Amino acid sequence: MKDIYGRTIDYLRISVTDKCNLRCKYCMPAEGVPCVAHKDVLTLEEIARVAKVMAGMGLRKVRLTGGEPLVRKNITELLRQLHAIPGIEHLALTTNGVRLSEMLPELIEAGLDHVNISIDALDREVFERVAGSDRLQEVLDGIDAAYAKGLAVKLNCVPVRELNPEEPVKLAGMAKDRKIDVRFIELMPIGQGRLYTGIPTGDLLKQLEDIYGKAEELPYDGEGPAKYYALPGFAGRIGFISPISHKFCTDCNRLRLTAEGRLKLCLYYKDGIDLRELLRNNVSDDQLQAAVRDALAQKPKEHSFGKEDMRGTEQKRMNQIGG
Ligand code: SAM
Ligand code: SF4
Repeated sequence: MKDIYGRTIDYLRISVTDKCNLRCKYCMPAEGVPCVAHKDVLTLEEIARVAKVMAGMGLRKVRLTGGEPLVRKNITELLRQLHAIPGIEHLALTTNGVRLSEMLPELIEAGLDHVNISIDALDREVFERVAGSDRLQEVLDGIDAAYAKGLAVKLNCVPVRELNPEEPVKLAGMAKDRKIDVRFIELMPIGQGRLYTGIPTGDLLKQLEDIYGKAEELPYDGEGPAKYYALPGFAGRIGFISPISHKFCTDCNRLRLTAEGRLKLCLYYKDGIDLRELLRNNVSDDQLQAAVRDALAQKPKEHSFGKEDMRGTEQKRMNQIGG
């Protein structure tokens, strides 16, 4: 799959639910949100069909996200179905880690090979303040279990001035003795994220260097938007995903499928196509492929975070879009 800017699209991020067992302040409002009606959420079979049709067009990597993917019933069965699709080489998961250690054996058995675990604090009280729930220990257990099983583990933290300013430095320390990538994602002004101030990459890098020593920039590893650094004596890498301060749209290789079945072309824009409608009208695989191809032709060149004109922008929250 190529878009009109010549970018190869081989990666689909699938949001399997907008529900979550945490309430990270920059993502979901504490009082909760009206959830999408069950009938409006794609079934596991519908999700697998979209992936299969797109695998026939060049899809190579699928990531399950949400909401919290591990609260979706029968998620293991979906992984198993995705794993069986010819052409899909990588199956990844982005999770808050709360249910990871208990579910890990079945997830691995079903074909999971990469896991990104979101963790915004190592201090129990700060964790609870950010995530709205005292679940730090479960997340840490999930990280330990995934590492012990030999999965490729990446930790993701969103540094926010008002919420966890002291935590990124501590979290970076998790890459000291273990070959784990610890990555910092700039806060995006999406949903609740508009209410807070992200800590820019440059400020954070300086903080890390003050404590751990000079960071050496590593060559691009050809995978995803993170820019990686090595800190002296660290086994794992430190990564920065900086959509605001360093746009990475020229290398964008992804599409997103929301829990309701909308194929989204860019995180920033609300455009996309309603695949659910097509799926439920019994269209053929060829017709689905044609719809995906038409949509691809509309993929925007780049996001416009930080610009004044907000017309056409996504108004949904990250838990609804699939972060
Ligand atoms: N619940 C899972 C989790 O937390 O990993 C998957 C979904 S969550 C929406 C995916 C990622 O998006 C998390 O790492 C979260 O920190 C990040 N995120 C949520 N809102 C964000 C925002 N406004 N800006 C940047 N990242 C955000
Ligand atoms: Fe849930 Fe993930 Fe959003 Fe936190 S960031 S509220 S864990 S969906």
